[in-house]
Amino acid sequence: MKKIAIGLLAIVVLLVLLALGTLGPAHRQIRRIAPSLPTRSAIDTALSEAAGPVSLVAVNSGSQASSEGGVVTHPAYLLEWSDGRRFLIDAGMEPDEVVAFGRPIELILGSDPAVPHGSVAGQLGKAMAQTVMGMAFTHLHIDHTQGIGALCRSRDARPLRVFQTPYQADDLNHTTRPGLAHIEASGCGRRERLSDATGNGLYPIPGFPGLLAVAGGGHTPGSTIFLARVGEGVWVMGGDVANFMESVTLDRPKEAIYSYLIVPEFGTRLAELRAWLRTFDEADGYRVAISHDLGAAVKRGMVVFEAASPGVRGQ
Ligand SMILES: [Zn+2]
Repeated sequence: MKKIAIGLLAIVVLLVLLALGTLGPAHRQIRRIAPSLPTRSAIDTALSEAAGPVSLVAVNSGSQASSEGGVVTHPAYLLEWSDGRRFLIDAGMEPDEVVAFGRPIELILGSDPAVPHGSVAGQLGKAMAQTVMGMAFTHLHIDHTQGIGALCRSRDARPLRVFQTPYQADDLNHTTRPGLAHIEASGCGRRERLSDATGNGLYPIPGFPGLLAVAGGGHTPGSTIFLARVGEGVWVMGGDVANFMESVTLDRPKEAIYSYLIVPEFGTRLAELRAWLRTFDEADGYRVAISHDLGAAVKRGMVVFEAASPGVRGQ
């Protein structure tokens, strides 16, 4: 009996040490990343003359209703230029992955089972998938990256430019390496580094005028915020700075257990990013979208892509 107890204790101690060995360096790494954020005037100047995208829609790969009444969504954002070129921000997940990703959330938080709506590639269809000329990720977590494989399959592996800030390309941790593996195994993703040539915190995306990246950090070292002028307004895509838009507007941090143990986050930086996003949410002409809260984005005017053929969304 005593031997079993000592054995169990040894296993627990070993697990804790293993976790600390991974989490410690990840926490130190993410706390080093807080590049200065671009000013509103720098953004307005960078977006002022560009012949930007003519439309932005969300392609939602899955939804999961939480026990508290909110719905967690897994969208990609699809931008289109007047000549028919398209750009994707994030890839969502394929249906099986949506269900699998939702399972621990069901068990731990008592949420409903996740409902898949079809992969982004499946919803777009092959003809439209071929017109995606570039993509980027708000960050390299699997719920944002897994769908790139289906996208590459549906475009017959035709090369796809994947744009990354240097932080996203170089500063990986145990939570983002699986996402990078999705890009590398995708069969079509070709990674390209963006540069902040003017030093104002904005990373223009070559070949895609009217679309800018900002190095965010906070949630993952490579977390990136995207700004796109669509018509007269600017969409600010904040990724996972928060899980719900209300956390931005009411300035609520994520649960400590999540930020310390599940995903090593930099709380001070996330607070700074929430404040930054709030300035846009409160300003005329800007709209903020948080990845997992598509409902709030829809309230702010986001359009959700509906596949032409009925039934493709899956539910
Ligand atoms: Zn996420």
